[in-house]
Amino acid sequence: MKQVSLICTECGAAAAPLDWQCAVCDGPLDFAAYPAFRGDAIVADDFSLWRYEAMLPVEKRMTLGEGLTPLVETEIEGIRFRAKLEYLNPTGSYKDRGTATMMNHLRAHGVREVVEDSSGNAGASVAAYASASGIHARIFVPASAAPSKKALIAAFGGELVEVPGSQHAKTEACLEAAKTTTYASHAWSPYFVLGQMTAAWEVWEQMRRRAPDAIVAAVGHGGLFLGFARGFRRLREAGLIEQEPRLFAIQSEGCDPIVRAIETGADVPPRVTPTQTVADGIIVEVPVRAREVLRAIRETGGEAFRVGNEAILAARDKLLRRGLIAEPTSAVPVAALVQIRAQLGADAEIVVPLTGSGLKMLV
Ligand SMILES: [Zn+2]
Repeated sequence: MKQVSLICTECGAAAAPLDWQCAVCDGPLDFAAYPAFRGDAIVADDFSLWRYEAMLPVEKRMTLGEGLTPLVETEIEGIRFRAKLEYLNPTGSYKDRGTATMMNHLRAHGVREVVEDSSGNAGASVAAYASASGIHARIFVPASAAPSKKALIAAFGGELVEVPGSQHAKTEACLEAAKTTTYASHAWSPYFVLGQMTAAWEVWEQMRRRAPDAIVAAVGHGGLFLGFARGFRRLREAGLIEQEPRLFAIQSEGCDPIVRAIETGADVPPRVTPTQTVADGIIVEVPVRAREVLRAIRETGGEAFRVGNEAILAARDKLLRRGLIAEPTSAVPVAALVQIRAQLGADAEIVVPLTGSGLKMLV
């Protein structure tokens, strides 16, 4: 097992391997140090994210072939960009990257049972990787979650726990259960964000070892967003890129704490009360690593924008006409491209991760 040490991002206290939160101040955890990125350590004949295993503080014990998703050039209404097809991961969402690194870590520590809370994609991902690892998963979902997503969690062998009320209610119920078992949290586990870094490294490889000018991503808790931020930072530290891409965080009008914090210059977002939104995958009232998300936006010269339901669904439909089957949440950044193009100019190279499969939402 690789030797790692975890520390609290707020107070610096040391944490145990299976802790999901700081025992002293309740802050989120991170690795005390990361292995340096080395281009010559990439395993070129491994066609999954484990080609970067030397750069990850976790060992591969199981894989469903996650990562190495296509980067496709496309165009919507005259705006060209590259779409990173994260929805082609094993369970149809980008979450599989983080779930894979998290589950391999839990397996290394002999974990037999986990709980997780999710509106759908993370739940399906954790259920699938848990079952394939011989681990029992109890997934807490809002009773109002999309029926097709709930069905997928159950089909993968996850024990579904439906909780009435808001998105936050299922989190509260899960936290209660986490007092007596292992919390495999896509929002809290440092091993989850870890796997998301590999998306940045793939984009760099797929662009012939260059970075794009901008990454435009939907943000809920910001796991993938921070994966890009941290991944490109590792590349810059290794001298492999000169500049990190500008990071644009896009949220829905129905739940926009990060956008509000950028607008007001705050370091911590205000608590918002979500209103109806078609972007069900990013209804997060309290993003766990909000401070780091805000820092990443400001340090890279990025921005945060909000988009409405009509624009999101129109963007989803335009993607479909380009042969790209994204769920509405994944169309959120696409809906903001007009604003971003206006800011960056016509020549800027933009990468947009399409995070979740629209196949889950068709019925
Ligand atoms: Zn702490």
